[in-house]
Amino acid sequence: MALMAWNSNLSVNVQQFDTEHKKLIDLVNQLHDAMKGGRGKDAIGGVLKSLVDYTQRHFAAEEALMKMQGYPDFEAHKKEHNTLVLQVLDFKKAFEAGKAVLSQELLNFLRDWVASHIQSVDRKYGPYFNTKGIH
Ligand code: FE
Ligand code: FE
Repeated sequence: MALMAWNSNLSVNVQQFDTEHKKLIDLVNQLHDAMKGGRGKDAIGGVLKSLVDYTQRHFAAEEALMKMQGYPDFEAHKKEHNTLVLQVLDFKKAFEAGKAVLSQELLNFLRDWVASHIQSVDRKYGPYFNTKGIH
């Protein structure tokens, strides 16, 4: 069973970013499946790397649009992205160092930050971008 699912509560009303959030959730679920399925460290590490890479690309895309559109909360939002990336890189390093006990903790952390970041921080840019004609 999937660890998390996209639903309309997670919609930010900007199509590109809804699509990217769905992909992010898909990668968290892939990681969950790989860990639960007892896949090897290399396979799990590969999914984790895809997730980290995609997260960074997604954050960069949001930041570029916020900056271009003069979003007032740009700096705070970017700061939150930076914190999240540092946290997830810490987990990745710990995973690579062989701390397998981290698995469930990592999954819960990923699920919670994806959901709470989208709901509490990303959703705030929706109305702003909408006023700029971006949907
Ligand atoms: Fe986002
Ligand atoms: Fe964001």
